[in-house]
Amino acid sequence: MEKSENCHSPQGPKEASSFTKEANRAVFNDKVLPWDDKSDFENARQGFVTKDFPLVITGQSGKTVFDMERYTEFIKPAFPAPDTVNSSLWRHARLNTNAGLFKITDCLYEVRGYDMANMAVMEGETGYIILDALTYTEASRAAMELVYTTLGKKPIKAVVIGHSHADHFGGICGITGASAVKSGEVKVIAPWGLEASALSENVLAGPVMLRRAAYQFGDTLPVGPTGVIDCGLGKRMPGGGGTVSFLSPSDSITHTGQEMTIDGIKFIFQMAPDSEAPASIQAYLPRFKALWFGENVNYTNHNLCPIRGTLTRDAKKWAGYINEMIELFPEAKIAFGSHFWPVWGKDEVRNLLTKQRDLYKFTHDQTLRLAYRRGDCRDAHPPPQPCLRMV
Ligand SMILES: [Zn+2]
Repeated sequence: MEKSENCHSPQGPKEASSFTKEANRAVFNDKVLPWDDKSDFENARQGFVTKDFPLVITGQSGKTVFDMERYTEFIKPAFPAPDTVNSSLWRHARLNTNAGLFKITDCLYEVRGYDMANMAVMEGETGYIILDALTYTEASRAAMELVYTTLGKKPIKAVVIGHSHADHFGGICGITGASAVKSGEVKVIAPWGLEASALSENVLAGPVMLRRAAYQFGDTLPVGPTGVIDCGLGKRMPGGGGTVSFLSPSDSITHTGQEMTIDGIKFIFQMAPDSEAPASIQAYLPRFKALWFGENVNYTNHNLCPIRGTLTRDAKKWAGYINEMIELFPEAKIAFGSHFWPVWGKDEVRNLLTKQRDLYKFTHDQTLRLAYRRGDCRDAHPPPQPCLRMV
């Protein structure tokens, strides 16, 4: 059995117990999930242009910040999944190894798999407009290098930050710099309140959240079938730790319907505060008939109460913003976000958004229903005193 120097357990990683094996095999054998459906694999590969190989990103000190090869080398076989891994997670982890520069449609590209999050790149009239900046400057620099060598060197005109979590703004100084923003050469566009939210989570609560995040994302575990496979939203490098940066926005989005034309590309923004993040926006790009839903639509059931200690998300508002997006932009025929791969086709976009809306609304409604039912039993079985306190 392989042991890892990263692992704190004196025993190291373990093989699956008989109970784990049985449970994981049952997930595959019961055929509830459509294992033969390949549409996600087709979408995850559609528009592939190129990628760096090996895809290993190092920092200035030579430390590895991100290493996709460590994930791809063990995850190639389709099924069966290893005994230690749930087949659904195995499938998901395979999908998330599709990395590189992808063409979504003419003049709209996306770099995926260079970090846990995505960076979208639009070709404007005179330069590039970037949607989200990844977590680390080393990763965003590598992503931009891939763009420059493939699509050509052009000036950055704007960076749009979708929400206040570090995997969406932390790499910004690998794309542009404070002096370019100060001079007006580059716009940094973000939802109103992003600065306060980002500082609150990453500075005031930063040290404790960082420690808890290590548990949430399995930072001390080795990469492999007995350690880290994927963290749902993408690949995160255990023990990574590149350079996280921040630039104050030059322009704030304050209301739904706010329009902005950036280097010839029109944006119609939608506010989505207190959804996946306290400060959050979504956007419609009429030229591409494309929705950018940030992290409010995911190909996983996103956590609502993250154990690392970020604010609990409002599932009702979250579902409401997705519903509003469906109603505001029914003509959309492409949808893409800050994690995962796009979907193409009007029906496919609507299908994705309605299911995601219902996921969060169901969770909200059933949580309240069941909490109420428990309240019904209160007289017969009084709960401990703290449960009765309204604070
Ligand atoms: Zn994210």
